[in-house]
This record gives sequence, structure tokens and C-alpha cells, in this order.
Amino acid sequence: MGAHSIWVLEYSRSPVHPVSGVFYGAHNQGTMNLPFAYILIKTGDAVVLVDVGHDAADFGGQIAHSIGVTGWTPPDIVLGECGIRPADVTHVILTHAHFDHIGGLKFFPNAKIFIQKKELESWMWILANGRRFRSLQAGLNPADILYLTKANIEGRLELVEGERENLVPGIHVYPAFDTHTAGSQYVVVETGDGADKYVLSGDVVYTYSNLTGGDANDPCFVPPGLANGSQTRLIESADEMLKIVGMDERRIVPMHEEKLSEIYPSRVTDRELTLVEICLADGERSRV
Ligand SMILES: [Zn+2]
Repeated sequence: MGAHSIWVLEYSRSPVHPVSGVFYGAHNQGTMNLPFAYILIKTGDAVVLVDVGHDAADFGGQIAHSIGVTGWTPPDIVLGECGIRPADVTHVILTHAHFDHIGGLKFFPNAKIFIQKKELESWMWILANGRRFRSLQAGLNPADILYLTKANIEGRLELVEGERENLVPGIHVYPAFDTHTAGSQYVVVETGDGADKYVLSGDVVYTYSNLTGGDANDPCFVPPGLANGSQTRLIESADEMLKIVGMDERRIVPMHEEKLSEIYPSRVTDRELTLVEICLADGERSRV
């Protein structure tokens, strides 16, 4: 019996993403298909998006193009598959501020936005340090930080400091500081009876292989390659997530994981995007 419906909505993909970006130390192993997605949660009157994708029309689109991302589809079409309009979104929880997670904010004018205070501060620090620090800016569209300021003036931004339980009833956020980015956070959804938890990992865990390594029978953490923080902190945070879900890896939901559709019900839309249904609230109809 659940109070939350959760869908993972692919909105674009890179068929040529370097394997070393996803698995630390995987040098000279070529490229892989990497879906780009955001996660929709419906509960009560709240329509929550965890991350918002990017906008193909701005600098985020240029970054996407430069790393081989194709098939970008606007949020009205992506969310329309679940009967939601962008204007219906009440809460946006940002796991971190890389362009493909934050750049679509402008499509959700009615949403209150939640990001870790430390994430915003760290990007301001990186930007203030000038060109020699630009390797730390990989994946950032500085205009997205400007957009946060605009949303703040409009009273739509809330800076979260560390852990926040029941940000929306049953939806908690926890910090994963100094991991993929300085102020990354992940989301835990408690679907009703307290026993069923899902962890929405952001980019702290890109894929299930970050939890298991090459051999699922003898699992080994292999953290993502892209980290402004440390690989040790990435592993510690992945371990924390696994403990939250009682070591059941399938209850961790990484938004760049292609194999979600092998674990959960799914369908491919007219735009050839995969829609994955993680769970349904009582009375909610399936969209797959
Ligand atoms: Zn990222």
C-alpha cells in the first residue's frame, strides 16, 4: 500500500559516453550508452520532480552536444506521458547542479526549488577562482546558477542544510557531501507503510555497476569517474544508501541506469524514450 507513485523519465541519451566517466579507473574502455532522465513523484497534492534535465536551446544544450547527447525532448512531452504538465510541478529537488540535472528549471515556473546550500556555495567558489580552476566546472552551465538567484528573488528557492526529513511527506533528502559534487544530495522515498523505501541516488551512483563492480556475485564498489569530491566519499555514500534499503540494490534508483527497464515495468514512448514505473500509489493508474 503506497502513497507515492514514482516514474523515471528518460529525456535524452548519449550513445557515446566515455566508460571512464561512469567507472573510476576504467581507462581505454571506450564508450557506452547513457540515458539522461529525471524522476517524477506524485503524492497527495504534490507533484515532485527530482532534477529537471537541461534545455537544448541554451549553453547546456551546447555542453550536451559536445558530449554526444541526442534525442532531447521537451518536458511537456516527457511529463505528458504521465498526464502531468510542467506547470503542475510543485516541488523540484535538485540532486546537484550539473547542467543535465538543473538546466531545465525555467520549464517549471510554479515549483519551489530545493538544493543543498553547500552545492550553491561551492559553485560560486569555483566560478570565483577563475580560469585555472575551470576543470572543476566540467558539467556546469553558469547560467543555471544565475537562474537560482532569479528564483531566489521570486521566493522560490530553498537552501537545504544537510538532512531534511519529510520535505514533502514521505520524501527525505540526505547530503552526500564532497562526492560527485561538493553539495550533492540524494532522495529517499518512504512509500507509505515505512517498510518500502527507494533511494534516488542522483549521480552519486550512476549505475548498478557502481555498487557491484564487474561481478555481482562478488560485489565491489566502483565509484563514478566524474568527482569534484573524493572516490572514498562516493563509496561511503553508496554504502549509506545500500544500508537504507536493507542492502537491496534494486531499491536504489540511479537515473543514468539503462537496466532499470529490466527490473521495473517500462515502455518505450513514440520519441523512443524509456519510461520506467518504479511504484504506484493506491488508486493511481499505470502509465506503462
Ligand atoms: Zn552530475
